[in-house]
Amino acid sequence: MLHELLSSVVHHTPPYALSRALNHIPRPLIDFKKDLSFRHAVAYAYAHTKFYREKFDERKIDPRSIRKPSDLGDFYTTPADIVNRAEDFLARRPHIVFESSGTTGRNKRVYLRQEELNAIGQLNAMGFFRWGITKKDRFVNAFDFCIWIPGMITQKGLEASRIFCLAAGKVDPLEVYKRIPLYNINVVMGEPTWLIKLTELAEKHGSYPLKLVLGGAEEMPDAARPWIKQVWHNPEVHMVYASVESAGVIGAEFYDRCRGYHVDEDDFMVEIAEPNAEGYGEVVFTTLSRTTMPLIRYRNRDISKLIEEPCSCGIPFRKLARMRGRADELIVASGGNLYPLMFEDILKDVDGITSDWQVVFKLRGIKEVMEFNLELRGHVPRETVEKTVFDHIRDRYPDLWKNYSIAIFETAFQYHPVGGLRGNARKLLRIVDRRYTQQ
Ligand SMILES: [Zn+2]
Repeated sequence: MLHELLSSVVHHTPPYALSRALNHIPRPLIDFKKDLSFRHAVAYAYAHTKFYREKFDERKIDPRSIRKPSDLGDFYTTPADIVNRAEDFLARRPHIVFESSGTTGRNKRVYLRQEELNAIGQLNAMGFFRWGITKKDRFVNAFDFCIWIPGMITQKGLEASRIFCLAAGKVDPLEVYKRIPLYNINVVMGEPTWLIKLTELAEKHGSYPLKLVLGGAEEMPDAARPWIKQVWHNPEVHMVYASVESAGVIGAEFYDRCRGYHVDEDDFMVEIAEPNAEGYGEVVFTTLSRTTMPLIRYRNRDISKLIEEPCSCGIPFRKLARMRGRADELIVASGGNLYPLMFEDILKDVDGITSDWQVVFKLRGIKEVMEFNLELRGHVPRETVEKTVFDHIRDRYPDLWKNYSIAIFETAFQYHPVGGLRGNARKLLRIVDRRYTQQ
């Protein structure tokens, strides 16, 4: 009862009022509500979903005895669980489904009801007001609307806030660039790689004064922020942290001094699994308000740490540090989720190369580069190898091709002698991310 009462206070407060009230929420109330919601979420998931009933029974976990996440021991929900058994997580009849981008058949899915989608919209609207967006501002939503979630949840926030918007979707940045003066757009939101491409156009052809640039769905290179500010006449540049599985935004950065994401502790209980000495480990979250597809201790695969110290901006919610990469070989790069299997598929029948290959992601300045490291054999010219690789990307992964053709990322090829890539290593890492470690 108390859980419902406290939740309804938050969900019935208008977004604008909530954005003003944020700093005044007492920290003990946040903790009290979070603990209560966690216990409620565990009991609800057990009572209503096949997956959690089975798992808890198997492990002899009595949900009534669970007070905090650590009471669940080493029980976690993994991405493989929701790839393989998504519908076993359903507690109610859903109204909509979203998928992660990536290889078909391996996608993660999240199901929601309309009221949950609307609640995410209300919260995003609160965030927009907190960033200082008003009804005088003009917003372009350049996130993808294609199966994947960010376009839709951003749009829900715009609907709830009644902020004027151009719902562009992830189109060629040039299309948005041309419309900035047409609609007097001053707030731009999209993926960092897309924002960088848009900023390059502005640097080359002339820029306009923007108020705010918002990014999400992947991390932004540190060096990109000052450059974006400089090109667009000093807008604020901020990021949000979310995933398809979380559906809503897990955390958002509101001011430069935050240097991390304030976690929405009303909707998510966030933990760090297996932290190292510095506190960095895998981000794990429990959904505290989801009733259609509740997730208990879901391993989100991103590496970060929880910052316990209060933030000087005054928002009482704890923060996650900026992400430091992924806990598996999946990589969020070049505007999508990329898996080793995808590159296997692109490179498997290319004449003139061995089956050993490695794809390295790096930054050239702030531009993302997908570098194919290949071993040449026989006498097939390099140009033929490269043409076949591009043909395969175009034919087999149209999403990746789209991102390449609108110059979201660049490609490079490095050639090695036969056996040169593996050396003495038993296992060859297929995907290497050097974007945030190369400096
Ligand atoms: Zn802050």
